[in-house]
Amino acid sequence: TRHQREQLQVLAIRDPLTGARNRRAMDEELKIAASSKRRHGRDYSVLAMDLDHFKQINDQYGHLAGDQVLVSFVALIKAGSRKEDRLFRVGGEEFLLLLPDTQLGGLEAAAANLQELVRTSLRSPGGAVSVSIGGATLRPDEPWPNLLQRADRCLYQAKSAGRDCTIIDRDEAPTASPTRA
Ligand code: GH3
Ligand code: MG
Ligand code: MG
Repeated sequence: TRHQREQLQVLAIRDPLTGARNRRAMDEELKIAASSKRRHGRDYSVLAMDLDHFKQINDQYGHLAGDQVLVSFVALIKAGSRKEDRLFRVGGEEFLLLLPDTQLGGLEAAAANLQELVRTSLRSPGGAVSVSIGGATLRPDEPWPNLLQRADRCLYQAKSAGRDCTIIDRDEAPTASPTRA
């Protein structure tokens, strides 16, 4: 039946714990984004997000508490982002947000907003949970794996800079200065 077919589709593209889209769906959507950029000049940006010190939550309060934080994180990001934005769970506590029609300025605003939302609203039994963020804007003719690589590199820099901060790759000269509220 149509209902069963739709349910199978959901299973194929969603992470069962959080309901976020999975990595396979991400590859597919990024492929479409890159071709839409090439053919129509549509803008896309991404935010790579990784929860800070997540292992501690599991270690101190158990895996179920960790799972609950992941579920809450996804709900928060969905509530704080646009309807057209797509959230993917890339790995354990790593996520990617794809923002269509978004350039550098919009990306910075979105990242600041989401980071603040997480800082003030995401809780584990041990208290506040923060997220580190790396961002990048799709260049013309850029293969999508390269976009991911740039965002990941910024995320890594945000971790090194002390976590709970955002670093966004500015096309020619990547920023070295983290933004912190
Ligand atoms: P950092 O601030 O550097 O990101 O530190 P971290 O502790 O968040 O990073 P690390 O990569 O060391 O730990 C990630 C942890 O996420 C380890 C793993 O056990 C946990 N994890 C992965 N998937 C799941 C899951 O589905 N549920 C739960 N509860 N934990 C998970
Ligand atoms: Mg982490
Ligand atoms: Mg991680």
